[in-house]
Amino acid sequence: MAETIDLRSDTVTKPTAEMRKAMAAAEVGDDVYGEDPSVQKLEALAAEKVGKEAALFVPSGTMGNQVAAMTHLQRGDEVIVEAESHIFYYEVGGLALISGAQTRTLPGQKGFMPPALIANAIRNSDLHFPRTGLLCLENTHNRAGGTVITAEQTSLMAKVAHDRGIPVHLDGARIFNAAIALKTDVRALTAAVDSVMFCLSKGLAAPVGSVLAGKKEFIAKARKNRKLLGGGLRQAGILAAAGIIALEKMVDRLAEDHANARLLGEELANISGLTIDPAAFPTNILICSVAKLGISAQHFSVLLAQHGVLANPVSPTELRFVTHKDVTQAQIRSAVNIIHQIVKAIDQF
Ligand SMILES: *Cc1c(COP(=O)(O)O)cnc(C)c1O
Repeated sequence: MAETIDLRSDTVTKPTAEMRKAMAAAEVGDDVYGEDPSVQKLEALAAEKVGKEAALFVPSGTMGNQVAAMTHLQRGDEVIVEAESHIFYYEVGGLALISGAQTRTLPGQKGFMPPALIANAIRNSDLHFPRTGLLCLENTHNRAGGTVITAEQTSLMAKVAHDRGIPVHLDGARIFNAAIALKTDVRALTAAVDSVMFCLSKGLAAPVGSVLAGKKEFIAKARKNRKLLGGGLRQAGILAAAGIIALEKMVDRLAEDHANARLLGEELANISGLTIDPAAFPTNILICSVAKLGISAQHFSVLLAQHGVLANPVSPTELRFVTHKDVTQAQIRSAVNIIHQIVKAIDQF
């Protein structure tokens, strides 16, 4: 069989040679004792990049989001989340289990929740009601297909919460993809929120790790909560060394992933039997429907895998394709050919 073209996620990216070298040479100490200079360097750099006072290295994006939530929330609070958001959909019920919070889901438009909808969802002090403790945003929005919300949309949503004294957390797992797509400084996208999490281990290609950033006092509390969840790491500078390169060297090249996604989207749109609007996907994630083929997305993904192309079904009729640094433009073109052959082989097409 031909080579594997892995379009399941940008999490599959492998660390660069430069990262491996930096990891081997990293200066380290016990980070639980606050003695790892490489982790400290990464946290300072990350805070500066997203325009916050302080930052905390965490093992995963999920832990970053959950630590943020438990730091903002009191037990019994209600959290306003977008109905398709990662923090609601894919984090194992952590908001309920870890923070003891209940979720209030609002329908979004590619991640944007109309401010009037947020305003209506915020609870007043009625004896029967839970306290609204947090508003969560997501940029880029994963399940919507890597869609972006602008700085203006972010501040419109955040303002509604802030006017009622409610903090705002941004799940910015791919916030650098959003900044590249919008041709804006990432700080413009994080300015209106109280805390932001982003992943080093996705398109930025670090092997492990995410960052939570916010005010100094918030990060100090979050550090304690990270310890509680078992996320206090010792010589984590080995990992932070790769994270520093991710932030310094791997951000600008995300534009290549976006160009490859555009190419893939346009080519898939030309294959009759598939349904996709390439213009709807501004970053490195595409969602494509196979409904017209009369087979399930799951079945289609198995056929793809038999020919070396990996993609995840995200609904009964839709597949997700994610571009990243370990898939070249030539591989995108071969994936298109393979997909075309498979579609043609399915009877009427
Ligand atoms: C990947 C992702 C996360 C979680 O990151 P992990 O490191 O996989 O735990 C959180 N939010 C969004 C939007 C993501 O895409």
